[in-house]
Amino acid sequence: MTVWSAAGQRAIQRCDTLGAAPYSEAEGQLFRRFLTPAHAHAIEAVGGWMREAGLTTHIDPIGNLVGRSKAARDAPALLIGSHIDSVHNAGRYDGPLGVMIGIECAAALARRASPLPFAIEVIAFGDEEGSRFPLSMMGSRALTVPLGEEALEQTDGDGVSVAEALRAFGLDPAEVPAAVRPPGQIIAYVEPHIEQGPVLEAAGLPVGVVTGIAGQVRLIVRFTGEAGHAGTTPMRLRRDPIAAAAECVLAIEQICAAGPADLVGTVGRILPSSAAFNVIAGRVEMGVDVRAANDPTRDTAVEAISREIAAIAARRGVAVGLERAQTLPASPCDPHLVALMEDAVGAVGVSPLRLVSGAGHDAMIMAALAPTAMLFIRCAGGVSHNPAESATPEDADIACRALLAFIERLAADFKGFAP
Ligand SMILES: [Zn+2]
Repeated sequence: MTVWSAAGQRAIQRCDTLGAAPYSEAEGQLFRRFLTPAHAHAIEAVGGWMREAGLTTHIDPIGNLVGRSKAARDAPALLIGSHIDSVHNAGRYDGPLGVMIGIECAAALARRASPLPFAIEVIAFGDEEGSRFPLSMMGSRALTVPLGEEALEQTDGDGVSVAEALRAFGLDPAEVPAAVRPPGQIIAYVEPHIEQGPVLEAAGLPVGVVTGIAGQVRLIVRFTGEAGHAGTTPMRLRRDPIAAAAECVLAIEQICAAGPADLVGTVGRILPSSAAFNVIAGRVEMGVDVRAANDPTRDTAVEAISREIAAIAARRGVAVGLERAQTLPASPCDPHLVALMEDAVGAVGVSPLRLVSGAGHDAMIMAALAPTAMLFIRCAGGVSHNPAESATPEDADIACRALLAFIERLAADFKGFAP
């Protein structure tokens, strides 16, 4: 039988507690949006757990909950965190598990014989998912740049602005720029998070070391052919944009499969101008998502995809227009912290597997402020953003111990803050 300490079990149980009313806005499922009563209840509960772990808590001007260890007021801090908001009909561990693991580490460190050379701050970001307002990751963004009028004037589905929601939450929108952390305060940001993918489970490993968050390009491809009658237009006279799109889907799959393992390309949508059985569509719009651990790999693939799309369209006599709708740069984790995390994972008896995060996280925003590291925790079937999301107390416990080993290594390494 596997033996584990109470830490992992407590972390999982606390996530489970947060999975229902009053910590959820929706009956019978988990939905916790930024600056709602459910968010306020979650802050109350998580704040209580932070204080039990010996942390002093406060709510920052954007509604993030912060717990700080006993240390000199001006001592630089290691920030451990994740988010406590959720998507609609969410799982219980995406976000909260990282916060709970941070609290367990803080509790263990409070019992340490000699004080750490830096403070520990555990942060529970109020918004990462963007499930209430259009802009996502407002919690971490507010720490890195002063959020201006544009951000505060955004409205939710009921027409309530961020500024109004902050006021209803007991916060002052005019104070939001004060949430920015000055340089020299934070030595590093580390985020434990469920993997939200199947790689660790397939490798039989409880945790994995994240090397970075993939950069993403979104392409909108518009094919224009010639609409026609499905019965009367001979095959050789057709200029069918759906057939051109279909050939492109397979080409994109081939190009990405032939690249490095972290390169992924997806055609997530194909919208023909006609959806009738008996019509050759005149136009098709296709949405392409390409991601890789580094921007050159991704951009090389995007160039190859663009050339191939142009060639296929030309061969088929179909006009094509290509638009880059979104470019998000890759966010590599700090190489030195990645090496420390690998060593820490090895020290708790787990073979340290390196992996890339295909999904976005607060760490990619925090990278503007401090070196970042992430530790992934196995989740059953790679299922996430779904009530079936599942992680085990054993794995959570290994994550707690690996993170503690990481912090000990960081402390041994720490020679004062060099911005
Ligand atoms: Zn998340």
